[in-house]
Amino acid sequence: MLQAIGVTAYVSRARQAPQPEPATALTGDPAGMNWATLAATVRQCTLCGLCAARTQTVFGTGDVRAPLMVIGEAPGAEEDRQGEPFVGRAGQLLNSMLKAAGFERRQVYIANVIKCRPPKNRDPTLEESDRCLPYLRRQIELVDPAVILCVGRIAAQRLLERDDPLARLRGRVHRLGRTPVVVTYHPAYLLRAPVEKRRSWDDLKLAMGVLRHGDGA
Ligand code: URA
Repeated sequence: MLQAIGVTAYVSRARQAPQPEPATALTGDPAGMNWATLAATVRQCTLCGLCAARTQTVFGTGDVRAPLMVIGEAPGAEEDRQGEPFVGRAGQLLNSMLKAAGFERRQVYIANVIKCRPPKNRDPTLEESDRCLPYLRRQIELVDPAVILCVGRIAAQRLLERDDPLARLRGRVHRLGRTPVVVTYHPAYLLRAPVEKRRSWDDLKLAMGVLRHGDGA
């Protein structure tokens, strides 16, 4: 069902190569941090109780100049072990979805709202996401993607600060500041409900359309 829809022009768009960065001073406020300082701050973060049980933080991975940024909820067991987002079964499905849209995994930037694994994969609390979101907001500023694909209800609600169910969040283009955001199902849900893959593909096409043509705003 999924067919590549060719976004090579966006993948290879010319953007300046990042220069090696000296770490700026470690402070608690991510605003203004460069990548090195932000990553180091996340590695040492103890702002919520999730730090107690983590194996390691899961910062983010991929092209820091990517036109497409994927945002999930929180690391699971495999991500906690490997220190990389979406490396379990859901991650494999995410990789296939990206491939169908014309992207290799390394050509997008992937991060989560929450950088540490919640015990027993429970939903992150509002307090946990409030503490962690400034890191993600700075990652978004640094990547400056042309579009964000937000996967799953929790990630979408916390990122967009909305209470709506996923059915009402998907299928349209939101804005986070000046960045367009498209919401779709979490790949872990699609593994349980493959019948929804068709709708998810519609969401991906919507995101690719924003990449190609902007969202008209
Ligand atoms: N689910 C997520 O939301 N993020 C991950 O990194 C893995 C699974």
